[in-house]
Amino acid sequence: MSNTNDDEDNEPERQRRRTEPPPPNLVPINGGMLVSNEIRTFRTHCTLRDINESQVNSRVRTGKRYLDFQLLRIVLMSPNQPTIFHNRGPTKRGGGTESQGKGRMFLCRVFDQRDSDASGDLVYFMQGENNVNKSLFLRENKWRDNGTLTIGTYFRVLAPEYITQYLNNELPMIVSTRPAILMKRPVSVPKVTIRSLSVNQSRAYVLNGAQLFVQQVEAVDAVCNGNLCDKQRIQQVRSGKCGCYHFQQISKTGVVFNHSIVVTPCDGVATDVQSEITERTFTSQTFSQLYITKPMPNNVTLAQIQDTDEMDMISNKLYILSDYVNNHGGWTVIGWYRLGMVTDKALADENQTTYRDQPVVDTQVEAGETKFHIVSLYPTNPSFTSVGTDDYNHLLANRVNTENISF
Ligand SMILES: [Zn+2]
Repeated sequence: MSNTNDDEDNEPERQRRRTEPPPPNLVPINGGMLVSNEIRTFRTHCTLRDINESQVNSRVRTGKRYLDFQLLRIVLMSPNQPTIFHNRGPTKRGGGTESQGKGRMFLCRVFDQRDSDASGDLVYFMQGENNVNKSLFLRENKWRDNGTLTIGTYFRVLAPEYITQYLNNELPMIVSTRPAILMKRPVSVPKVTIRSLSVNQSRAYVLNGAQLFVQQVEAVDAVCNGNLCDKQRIQQVRSGKCGCYHFQQISKTGVVFNHSIVVTPCDGVATDVQSEITERTFTSQTFSQLYITKPMPNNVTLAQIQDTDEMDMISNKLYILSDYVNNHGGWTVIGWYRLGMVTDKALADENQTTYRDQPVVDTQVEAGETKFHIVSLYPTNPSFTSVGTDDYNHLLANRVNTENISF
């Protein structure tokens, strides 16, 4: 379904859309008055194509439109290594480049309930020194820092502006002056098929019903005690510059669990391109809380838990969980992938440019290598989050109560 020909003269079409309910799968986290008023005002779903500058001469208006996204990764920009943007379109000098200084970039995928292919599209939101997107996550300040907004969170962007800049001439940069609305995780997320990419292309994927094989789980230093980063990419972000706005740089930041995992798509479609996805450094607080009740207390050190009976118990709970979910609907796996050829600072993995006073080390991605990243992993079957079901009870009964662990 396309809204590209939203024509102000087409009154029946507008009337129809006005009464069209929002997609049932995506609802605001806060159903409060402010939010529902906003939803009424900004009721028209649009697409990336609608806000592409090539559409400027059409009669498309962005003012009352919205686009939905899912946060996949936060990248910190470094003044030591400029980020390259390309301006496109008639209002810019075509082909120009700009570099930005410090700031954050949020890698997101488009979420479009009705368009699985569009839901594989990646975009960036930049928050830099030029104040662009400065209000993006300021609707509820606390949500940005208390873990409500984290890696994997869905959000609705109101009145996205026309796209004029592309990161590395590839990924569109999205701009909105309005604060985003955080949305609940959809009960079911449409599959986004993995497909062959051209060089330096990136896309998101969504697998449903995948099989999870946990090779190993081990405790590692948490590094950051903020919540925005979901403790992801701990192995890469050793300095604590993970993208969180507020975290205390204290000596004790607790431990999180690193997972070496393999996921296998089982629906037969994705296997044409990729038979399995291996991730040896998957850390995620959201994922860990499927088998532990709460994050490990901050006063537990790595030395206290490594190679202990408690660690064995935690590992075993995860093995039991993975097998159980494998046999009860499998796993939803959300992430992104890229076919690399040259060094790409913003998307680089290891040796990220996060060490303040150390030389920047580039990551060379092998030519022709498709690198897969996992950012979100949870049971596909909605019964696991539905109170009272067998699956829900199983999940609850088999988690390790981290508050009962004593050292
Ligand atoms: Zn963090």
